[in-house]
Amino acid sequence: MNESKDFLRTIVEEDLASGKFQEVHTRFPPEPNGFPHIGHAKSIVINFGIARDYHGRCNLRMDDTNPITEDTRYVEALKDAVHWLGFEWDDGIRHTSDYFPRLYDYAVQLIKMGKAYVDSLNEEEIREYRGTVTEPGRRSKYAQRSVEENLDLFERMKNGEFKEGEHVLRAKIDMGAANMQLRDPLLYRIRHVHHHRTGDTWSIYPMYDFAHCLSDYIEGITHSFCTLEFENNRAIYDWVLDTLELEPPRPYQYEFARLAITYTVMSKRKLLELVNEGKVNGWDDPRMPTIAGYRRRGYTKESILNFCDQIGIAKANSTVDVAQLEFAIRDDLNTKVPRVMCVLDPLKVTIENYEGSEEIDASYYPHDVPKEASRKLPFSKEIYIERDDFDENPPKGYFRLTPEQPVRLKHAYIITCKEVVKDADGNVVEIKAEYHPDSKSGQDTSGIKVKSAIHWVDAKGAKKAEVRLYDRLFKEEAPKGMEDLNPDSLKVIEHALVEPAVITERPDERFQFERQGYFYADPVDYSDEHPVFNKIVALKDSWSK
Ligand code: ATP
Ligand code: MG
Ligand code: MG
Repeated sequence: MNESKDFLRTIVEEDLASGKFQEVHTRFPPEPNGFPHIGHAKSIVINFGIARDYHGRCNLRMDDTNPITEDTRYVEALKDAVHWLGFEWDDGIRHTSDYFPRLYDYAVQLIKMGKAYVDSLNEEEIREYRGTVTEPGRRSKYAQRSVEENLDLFERMKNGEFKEGEHVLRAKIDMGAANMQLRDPLLYRIRHVHHHRTGDTWSIYPMYDFAHCLSDYIEGITHSFCTLEFENNRAIYDWVLDTLELEPPRPYQYEFARLAITYTVMSKRKLLELVNEGKVNGWDDPRMPTIAGYRRRGYTKESILNFCDQIGIAKANSTVDVAQLEFAIRDDLNTKVPRVMCVLDPLKVTIENYEGSEEIDASYYPHDVPKEASRKLPFSKEIYIERDDFDENPPKGYFRLTPEQPVRLKHAYIITCKEVVKDADGNVVEIKAEYHPDSKSGQDTSGIKVKSAIHWVDAKGAKKAEVRLYDRLFKEEAPKGMEDLNPDSLKVIEHALVEPAVITERPDERFQFERQGYFYADPVDYSDEHPVFNKIVALKDSWSK
């Protein structure tokens, strides 16, 4: 729940206090033409969140007025998203298409009132007649049609007697209005297409400006929250509801800023393009800004909710730094998940003075995480460390293992490099080392000073895992399109080595791989035989171009 009140909540509170409405009733009205993205999450959190905060109700409405692009798969994805974020809609899913008969009746009513007419200009003429910002439009000669003629034509439009584009129904408002949206907006157009719910019943489909306000009214919505680009449409919203002289109460529209995030595209059209062109592996690809994508990546619902809370609700559009979203997930996981060790690029270390084996008890959680549990780390003569945790010719300030500099193995002993083994090409293939028996973590009496502790795994105990390193999908801060894709947004490590407890105990689905970042057992491809981990986010903001 929002601690500091936003302007939408202020409006709702005032309306409840004044008695304008007894109960707040909102709706989330997606068009089922794609998977919901993080922008929809913001809208879900606003609409369902306000209803929850003020003990009202929120509807989930499929805004299915455009038959061509819709698919029941998207409907399922929308339901999943709302549920996953922790919300429940009021009394069944609504569909704008359920109101088609009533919307038709309202249109007939407007015609009878002389407030709507069938226009027979073609698309181009309609555009031309509309005028420009500086020039008023002019009305089509067809606006003079009689009520009887309009009623007859509109009914025949409905019955499928005309071709697409032959006629449209328009509101008769004001062709000279400064707000161009009011220049006799279109209410209905002819579409001879199959609708996924109403089939071939309709040959005409209502436009957003007509369907939305009336669907809100029919459902008893009190506050209709939408994004800023609909600001100029509010006048039509009001005009339709007022002109029809509907029984009160009627809903009111309020606009808030649309969410945009750096390094991300957000329109469903562009997301669909990414999917269709195979730039990503489907709508739930962990690089996608879809709710399904974030989920698969390993984002928690809390992190998304916190993010929505932190960005707040504004009246002016702006772009949120993606680092803020990354901060939200890091911040959430930091206090929750076990710390374990995984080596992505293994370099073998043979500890020549170690014989036998042991199991080291190691806590899963650091001191500042309010959880307690530990696992056994197998340790023996052969271990693997990260290849770049050894450097034969280290740069200044290199704190890890070198021929001269010992290092601590996290939770275990300090080791010293004794010999560097190379292949014929001069690549380092193995380190021969010595461990210091009196340097065990927690009981170190060796007096040896080390500058860092590195992660490692035991050669015999470690399990193989596939690790998918995800990075930002786009390399540009404000990506224009496919040309700005980051070619390195996915790197697959086939043979990473992970400590065994991660697989055998599975203390969690999400982990911090020490020094690497936060990872998530992929919910689709993971199995104990073939473990797969997705990188959720790095430990620190490490993005550099
Ligand atoms: P897109 O252009 O991405 O397809 P849309 O507005 O056409 O988005 P709808 O499915 O019609 O998508 O949107 C459903 C609801 O979600 C609407 O109320 C819309 O205002 C809201 N919404 C969509 N995108 C955003 C966004 N980026 N930020 C906030 N709210 C959004
Ligand atoms: Mg829309
Ligand atoms: Mg859209």
